[in-house]
Amino acid sequence: MNVAVVLFTRDLRVHDNPALSASVRAAEHVVPLFVHDPALPAADNRRQFLRGCLADLASSLRSLGGDLAVLRGDPVREAVRVARAVGAEGIAMAADVSDYARGREARLAAACASERLAFRTFPGVTVVAPGSLRPGGGSHYKVFTPYYRAWQAASWRDVLGAPRRIALPGNMPKSWFESGASAEVAGESAARKRLTAWLSHLQGYSETHDDLAADRTSRLSPYLHFGCLSPRELAARVHDRPGAEPFLRQLCWRDFYHQVLFAFPELRRRAYRPGAEDRWRDEPDALEAWKSAHTGVPIVDAGMRQLLAEGWMHNRARLITASYLTKHLGLDWRAGADHFYDLLLDGDVANNYGNWQWVAGTGNDTKPYRRFNPLRQASRFDPSGDYVRRYVPELASVPGKAVHAPWTLRKPPSNYPEPLTLDAR
Ligand SMILES: Cc1cc2nc3c(=O)[nH]c(=O)nc-3n(C[C@H](O)[C@H](O)[C@H](O)COP(=O)(O)OP(=O)(O)OC[C@H]3O[C@@H](n4cnc5c(N)ncnc54)[C@H](O)[C@@H]3O)c2cc1C
Repeated sequence: MNVAVVLFTRDLRVHDNPALSASVRAAEHVVPLFVHDPALPAADNRRQFLRGCLADLASSLRSLGGDLAVLRGDPVREAVRVARAVGAEGIAMAADVSDYARGREARLAAACASERLAFRTFPGVTVVAPGSLRPGGGSHYKVFTPYYRAWQAASWRDVLGAPRRIALPGNMPKSWFESGASAEVAGESAARKRLTAWLSHLQGYSETHDDLAADRTSRLSPYLHFGCLSPRELAARVHDRPGAEPFLRQLCWRDFYHQVLFAFPELRRRAYRPGAEDRWRDEPDALEAWKSAHTGVPIVDAGMRQLLAEGWMHNRARLITASYLTKHLGLDWRAGADHFYDLLLDGDVANNYGNWQWVAGTGNDTKPYRRFNPLRQASRFDPSGDYVRRYVPELASVPGKAVHAPWTLRKPPSNYPEPLTLDAR
């Protein structure tokens, strides 16, 4: 092949990128392309992070002799237009799982067929390709533990290095705009640095990953979401190190929800479990108090304020806040999940809506009557109260674990509300 187009989506990296590597092997010239799709609305923080990822990707591609064309419009139309303009014979991209992504793939496959262009999708968004592991007779795994066993036993594809050199065609398209935002925090280079720095904490992961104040999880989720880091490479980097198992188990949850979304595209809106109780109260004021982090339950408000301040929340706090919304306030998981999705830097259809349904009791592998008691969770996972004091300034002067129940103080802080409720419904 003389020229091939590689359409990047959320595989924004040069290391272990099967679509890029295969195209560089198959074609003399490669056009790396990203298309901003106005049909895909993104929260401001995610948009900014994306710009950083693109700047970093462009710079890595340049260091290999290539570049990145960044355009705006319908990705299918733009990719085909670029392919025609540069005389490409084919288009390659990473396969993805959401309804939207699969629709885009199907449209691109059809457009390529009618333009006589070759079209291929490649793995790379997960460790194990969604749909490749199936229980006897089923389309996907509905329960995590058997999936985890199959995932561990599966033969994983080889990890690929970055291509050694990328040759552009003479008529490389001009970018719609310069993707010049700062790549200090976002992007593949930052992801790789963060991983290398964090590996020293892997050994302690099983003891510390639920400790809210310690903040010792990897914080790699936004990089995984945008594909700045290959989950397959991440699994390989940790695999033989002491303490890897509990971390790999968490990474496997990510693959698990991706294969669920692949098989159940309505995950975002419809209860996954047939017959699940899916009726909720309609109390806009309570929803607003939860969103604005003024429920009067310190551990819940601390989590929600971390989300507002950082666009990220610790996993244990996600569990507590989501359970409080659905099981204590009795409000619809969709409202909570949409709010998370709007604010999270790692906001991800499979992981966000899959986890929300798990907490709400409508999802996979879930116990409908399980609920997290916020006070018990607080004393277990924030025993010193440091996490609450870090995020709730009204309570910053309340010492020790008393911070979890300010209503029991002789003089409760006047600027912090009473709990909406402490009773599950
Ligand atoms: C209600 C709720 C909503 C969530 N929404 C999202 C979301 O939108 N995007 C997202 O990436 N994760 C989501 N999670 C999962 C989890 O909270 C985050 O992946 C994790 O907190 C990210 O921090 P970390 O990278 O430091 O995780 P680490 O503990 O370092 O874990 C490493 C990686 O494993 C994966 N992982 C860990 N836990 C889970 C899990 N429970 N489910 C799926 N993957 C997991 C993530 O990719 C994570 O980056 C949600 C969890 C809950 C309970």
